[in-house]
Amino acid sequence: MKTLTHWIGGKPVESVSGRFGAVYDPATGEQEKQVGFATVDEVDAAVASAKDAFGSWGASSLARRTAILFKYRELLDVHREEIAGLITAEHGKVHSDALGEVARGMEIVELACGISVQLKGELSTQVSTRVDVASIRQPLGVVAGITPFNFPAMVPMWMFPLAIACGNTFVLKPSEKDPSASLRLAELASEAGLPDGVLNVVQGDKVAVDHLLEHPDVEAVSFVGSTPIAKYIQLKAVEHGKRVQALGGAKNHMLVLPDADLDLAADQAVNAAYGSAGERCMAVSVVVAVGDTGDALVAKIAERAKNLRIGPGDDPASEMGPLITREHRDKVASYVSSAAEQGAEVVVDGTGHTVDGHETGFFLGVSLLDRVPLTADAYRDEIFGPVLAVVRAESYDEAVKLINDSRWGNGTAIFTRDGGAARRFQLEVKAGMVGVNVPIPVPVGYHSFGGWKDSLFGDLHIYGSDGVAFYTQGKVITTRWPDPADAGINLGFPSHS
Ligand code: NAD
Repeated sequence: MKTLTHWIGGKPVESVSGRFGAVYDPATGEQEKQVGFATVDEVDAAVASAKDAFGSWGASSLARRTAILFKYRELLDVHREEIAGLITAEHGKVHSDALGEVARGMEIVELACGISVQLKGELSTQVSTRVDVASIRQPLGVVAGITPFNFPAMVPMWMFPLAIACGNTFVLKPSEKDPSASLRLAELASEAGLPDGVLNVVQGDKVAVDHLLEHPDVEAVSFVGSTPIAKYIQLKAVEHGKRVQALGGAKNHMLVLPDADLDLAADQAVNAAYGSAGERCMAVSVVVAVGDTGDALVAKIAERAKNLRIGPGDDPASEMGPLITREHRDKVASYVSSAAEQGAEVVVDGTGHTVDGHETGFFLGVSLLDRVPLTADAYRDEIFGPVLAVVRAESYDEAVKLINDSRWGNGTAIFTRDGGAARRFQLEVKAGMVGVNVPIPVPVGYHSFGGWKDSLFGDLHIYGSDGVAFYTQGKVITTRWPDPADAGINLGFPSHS
C-alpha cells in the first residue's frame, strides 16, 4: 500500500512514528493509501526548515518572489487535471467540481502574483519640518496552516500563496483524510523555483496540530475546519502568543421571497445544497420559504432532487459523488431519521441509496426535509451532507430574525426581484458573506472570505486584503535628516512645527 509522506526542506520525508491514517477511495470504500502521522520531532524538523529558509526568503526581492509565483501559476495550470484527479480519488467529489476547486485556489496564487502592489507602503512627507513618515508591512516569520478535508487543494491555497508572497515561510498540516493534493502542490512549488523550506507539509493529527500551536517559532496560525476545533485552535494559539484566524463550520440559510423566480430558486437550492454531497462550508443547508412560496418551492426542489445522478466522481455522468467516510455517511443519514422523529416531513429520503457496482462506496442519496422544527437536530446542527431543510416564515422580518438567531454566520443568500428588500437584507443580516440571487457567495480572491459568529474566531478574514494584513506586521518609520538649524536640546514631547 502506498504510504504518503511529509514534505520538508524541499523533499519527501517519511514519518517514523509508526502511526498511520487510512486514506480511502470513497467511491469504492477501499483503503488505497496510508499517511504517516508526524511525531513532535518531525514537526520540529518542518518548523526548523521553515525558520532557516525565512532568513533569505523574508529578505528576498518582490521581483524574485513574484517571478516564482508566476511560474507556479503556470505549473498549476498545466497540472490542474492531475490535481483534480487526486482530489476526486481521495475526497470523492466529481471531477468537474474538483477542477472548479483548483481554479478557485489558483485565484489566490494569481492574487499573490500581484503582491508588489498590495505591499506598497505609505509615505507622508514633511509631517513636521524636514520630517517624513513611512508605513511599511513586513513578514511575520514562520506561519502554519491547518486545513479541512472538504477542499484539499483550495483551502491550503487560501493560505500559503499569500503568506509566502508576503515573505513568510509556511508549514501546512492538511487533512489526514485526503493529503495527496497538498503534497503535489508543494512539489510543484519546488519545481517553480521556491527555495527549500519555504513551503513544508507535515501530515498528521492532533499531535502535529498541538505541537504547531505550542511551538515558539511559529508566529501565526490560519485554521479552517469545524467550529469546536476552530474554537480550540483560537484559544490555544492565543495562549501561546500567536496571531490566529480560525474559520469554523456553518449552517447557511437561503431566503426565498414570494416575488422570486421559483424555478431559478429551486435550481440554485439544489445546486448549492447537494453539490459536493453537501460537504461545503458555503453549502445551502436551510431554505427559508417566505409567505405562500413553500409548497410550490418544495415541489420544485423535490422534482429536481429525485433526478440527480449519483455515482463515482471519476464518471463524467455523475453529478454528485460519495461522502468522505463511512462513519460520516452514517451520521448524515441519522439526521434524516431523527428529523422525522422530531416533527419534520421527509419529502425525499436518500438514506439507503446504493450505486450499482459501488455497493461498498460511501454513497448516500439526497434528502429533502420540509417544515423542520427549529428545535430539531437537523436544523440546529451542521450536518455537512446532502440533506436540505426547508423552514417556513410568514414574513421577511421573521425570516431574517431566524437567520440572525442562528449560531453560525458564514454565508447567506436572498432570492428576490425586489431591490429594496435585497438592500435591506444586505444591511440587516448577520453573516460574513451575502448573496443576492447568488446561492454560494464565495468571494473572489481579491475580496476576503470569512464568516461571523461561530463561523470565525479571530478578527481578520482569509485571503484578499485581510489575508495580506494577517500575514504581515506594520512598521512606521519617522525620518529626519539632520540640518544645523535643528541642533539644540529640547526635552519636551515631540510636537509639530
Ligand atoms: P475538522 O475540524 O475535523 O478538521 C480540520 C483540521 O483540524 C484537520 O486538519 C484535522 O486533522 C484537525 N483536527 C481535527 N480534530 C482535531 C483536534 N481535536 N485537535 C487538533 N486538530 C484537529 O474539520 P473537517 O471535518 O476536516 O472539515 C469539515 C468542517 O470544516 C466543517 O465544519 C466545515 O463547515 C468546515 N469548513 C469551514 C470552512 C470555512 O471557510 N469556514 C471551509 C471549509 C470547511
